[in-house]
Amino acid sequence: MTYTELKADETQYVMNTYGRFAIALDHGEGATLWDVEGKRYIDLTSGIGVCCLGYNNEKIVHAITEQAGKLMHVSNLFTTQPMVEVAKKLCTRTGMGKVFFANSGAEANEGMIKLARKYSYDKYGEGRAEIVTLNNSFHGRTVTTLKATGQDKFHQYFFPFTEGFAYADANDIESVKAQVNEHTCAVMMELIQGEGGVLPLDAAFVQQVAAFCKEKDLLLCIDEVQTGIGRTGSLFCFQQYGIQPDVVSMAKGLGGGAPIGAVMAADTCADVLGPGTHATTFGGTPLVCASANVVLDTLDEAFLAEVVEKGEYIKNTILGFGSSKVRDVRGKGMMLGIIVAPEERAALVSEIMDKGVLVLTAGKDAIRLLPPLTISKAEMEEALAVLRDVLA
Ligand SMILES: *Cc1c(COP(=O)(O)O)cnc(C)c1O
Repeated sequence: MTYTELKADETQYVMNTYGRFAIALDHGEGATLWDVEGKRYIDLTSGIGVCCLGYNNEKIVHAITEQAGKLMHVSNLFTTQPMVEVAKKLCTRTGMGKVFFANSGAEANEGMIKLARKYSYDKYGEGRAEIVTLNNSFHGRTVTTLKATGQDKFHQYFFPFTEGFAYADANDIESVKAQVNEHTCAVMMELIQGEGGVLPLDAAFVQQVAAFCKEKDLLLCIDEVQTGIGRTGSLFCFQQYGIQPDVVSMAKGLGGGAPIGAVMAADTCADVLGPGTHATTFGGTPLVCASANVVLDTLDEAFLAEVVEKGEYIKNTILGFGSSKVRDVRGKGMMLGIIVAPEERAALVSEIMDKGVLVLTAGKDAIRLLPPLTISKAEMEEALAVLRDVLA
C-alpha cells in the first residue's frame, strides 16, 4: 500500500488522537528505517525511547520467536522463568527489593501511586494519601496519571480526576516543603523531565528531596519511564544522582520494543502490595520478558560507557556547529534536547525530517533526540550531517 492509501484508511478507521507525521514506516535495521515508499531515514527517536537496541536486533528477534514457539502467555496465576529472571536482574543491579510488572509507563506509575498510598495507609491509616509531583512533569495519560502530571493543559475534559496531587517547582526545595503537609505520603518526580522539555533536575535538589522524604517518612518515587534502561548512560538515571529511591517506575526501553512496564520497590516497602491488591492480566508475560532479558543482558558496564561516549559526541558535535539557531543542548547520555527558538522549531523539525532524519520534540523549545543506544558511528555521522545542514 502507498502512504496515500494507508492514510485514507487510517483517517476512516483509526481515532484521530495523534498529530502524526506524513510518513508510514515499514521496516528497520539498526538505527535506520524505511517507509512504505522505500525512503530511508536515520532514526533519532527509537519509537520514543523504546527500541533501545535498534530495529531487527538479532538477539531480540531470536528471543521473541523462540519464546513465542514455547509459551507466549500464561497469566499471573503461574510462575514463568523469563519474568522471574527480569525481576532478579533489575533488583540485583539497583539494590531494590521486588518488582511488579505492568504493560506501560502510565500503568507502572499507577502501581507506584497505589503502592505509595497503601504504604502510608498501612502505617498511618486514612488521610495520608497526597502525592507531591513537579510542575512541568509528565506521568501518563490515565485519569490518575494525568492528574499526577504537573501541567494544567492535561487537566481538561475528563473530570472528575483522581484527587490527591499537589505540585511543586523543580529545583526549589522550599517549594516542595511548602506543598507537603500531614496528608502527604510521597514525592514523585522524573530526574530529567522528558516531555516537559528535556530538563535535568539539579543533583543538590534531588538529594535534598531525598533527605526530606526520609525525615518525613514520605516515599521517594522516581518515574524512570523515559530516563531508565540505559538511556542516560547508567541502567537507571537515579544511579547518577547519589540517591536510593523507595519506588522506581519504568517502561519504554525495558522491552526493547516489546510493551512492558514495571515498578520496583525497596525492601522497606516491597511487600506493601500483597495478594489481591494489584494485578494485570498481561503483566510480566513471557513473550515480552524474553525480550527484556536480552535488553538487560546487553546493557552491561561497557555498553553503558559507550552510551555516555556517544551522547557526549552527539552533544559536542551539535554545540560545535557554532550555530546561532542552537541555544543549548541539554540532557544526559542519549536523552538530549537541542534548544531552539520556539517559533522556529516546527520548520526546523520538518526540514530535518524531509532530509531523512527522524527527531522528536519536547516542551516549547526542544528538538528531542532519543536515538537507539546501539546507533552506529556511520549512522550518527549521517544524522549529524543533516542536523548541521539544517541548523548551521
Ligand atoms: C512516556 C512516559 C510515561 C507514560 O508512558 P506510557 O507507556 O505512554 O503510558 C510516563 N512517564 C514518563 C516520564 C514518560 O516519559
